[in-house]
Amino acid sequence: MKSIIIIGGGAAGMMASVFAARGGSDVTLIESNEKLGKKIYITGKGRCNYTNAADTEDFFNSVFEGKRFSYSAVYGFDSSMLMDLFAEAGMKSKVERGGRVFPASDKASDVTKALRKLMDDAGVKVRLNEKVEDIVVEDGEVKAVKTDSGMYSCDAVILATGGKSYPTTGSDGNGYSLLKRLGHTIETPRPALVPFVAKDKWVESLAGLSLVNVEGSLYVDGKLTDRRFGEMLFTHKGISGPIVLTMSCFVKEYKNVLVTIDLKPALSKETLDKRILKDFSENTNREFKNSLDKLMPKSLAKVVVDLSGISPTKKVNQITTKEREELVNLIKALPVHISSDAGFKEAIITTGGVKLKEVNPSTMESKIVKGLYLAGEVLNLHAFTGGYNLQLAFSTGHSAGVAASEE
Ligand SMILES: Cc1cc2nc3c(=O)[nH]c(=O)nc-3n(C[C@H](O)[C@H](O)[C@H](O)COP(=O)(O)OP(=O)(O)OC[C@H]3O[C@@H](n4cnc5c(N)ncnc54)[C@H](O)[C@@H]3O)c2cc1C
Repeated sequence: MKSIIIIGGGAAGMMASVFAARGGSDVTLIESNEKLGKKIYITGKGRCNYTNAADTEDFFNSVFEGKRFSYSAVYGFDSSMLMDLFAEAGMKSKVERGGRVFPASDKASDVTKALRKLMDDAGVKVRLNEKVEDIVVEDGEVKAVKTDSGMYSCDAVILATGGKSYPTTGSDGNGYSLLKRLGHTIETPRPALVPFVAKDKWVESLAGLSLVNVEGSLYVDGKLTDRRFGEMLFTHKGISGPIVLTMSCFVKEYKNVLVTIDLKPALSKETLDKRILKDFSENTNREFKNSLDKLMPKSLAKVVVDLSGISPTKKVNQITTKEREELVNLIKALPVHISSDAGFKEAIITTGGVKLKEVNPSTMESKIVKGLYLAGEVLNLHAFTGGYNLQLAFSTGHSAGVAASEE
């Protein structure tokens, strides 16, 4: 019987263990935390958006790194197969807006429980509170795994140690060092799906304010790089929320990054100007600082007034056409100057990781070390929000588990 060690008990490692054991191998999963799936508990705000029900071709439109690489893994184990597997383990699911799939209970813990049941049923052995320190390779082939408390000889290893984001969940990037020592190339890990930190002090006054139906435009070095419609949020340090997190995937260097927010994307400049004129005409003696409250939340109106350059106490009937034109431009493109991202601590995923050319996309086996398989976020394989990242972890875990047991 083939003996397989899985390193890492996150989504990818747990799934890999199920299929490696179902393939008839003797499987031991080693996890450095005191419990399995620590990151899964915090996914989807505790509800775990574990996949997306979009049809598989649409699915790939949301993968921004490693699209071609992931074809074989995702077609081999897609969202419907994943949902069926969880149903088999007794977990019901529901599909929400945008195809996002959650456990019907809204409890992320149910996903971990379902995975644990599948692992137990398949006979996977689990070692918790044990950290892998080295992978022993002889003549280019995996021979054993060394942990902080012992040595395990084995025929194959599936490494699923995750990325570097939210390091308190156990994915602290140590897997990259293990792989570098074995000769793998690690593309520089960077935080992604991460909030932006702003240079502008005024953002602080809006902390907690969430805006729906706005359009954000991302400029890198003066070039329009991404434009998105949807929801965003102001934080104490900058901006976040769905459209901002997605934009962060397009920024490699934070030298000259600007986001402009169109607060009224449904209105052309002309229509917006007419709307402002109408509001002004309702009370021509009103001071400018009190004149935008119908158009936007009060706290935001105050920021717009301050940035407009128009005196807050100016009567609205004295505001010139030129001033109104600039006000319209500001509402259509409120500028937020970005200084950096909010770092790995707040990043939903890590881009970068193991160079995909060094991995066989059908089996997830390393092309550098025989018997070594890789799965999940440790690979340079990433997608936008919507359940795609967990599906990628499950699909690559499935491929690695099946292949490691077979070959
Ligand atoms: C706040 C947040 C919310 C998210 N929400 C969603 C969502 O709703 N939907 C979605 O699709 N994605 C979501 N993601 C992304 C998703 O969680 C990850 O992409 C996915 O969990 C990656 O799985 P993984 O198994 O590759 O790695 P991880 O889940 O990071 O697991 C790696 C495991 O390996 C262990 N490990 C590391 N090194 C060692 C070692 N040397 N020895 C032993 N064990 C080791 C770690 O302790 C860890 O348990 C979210 C991420 C975050 C941070």
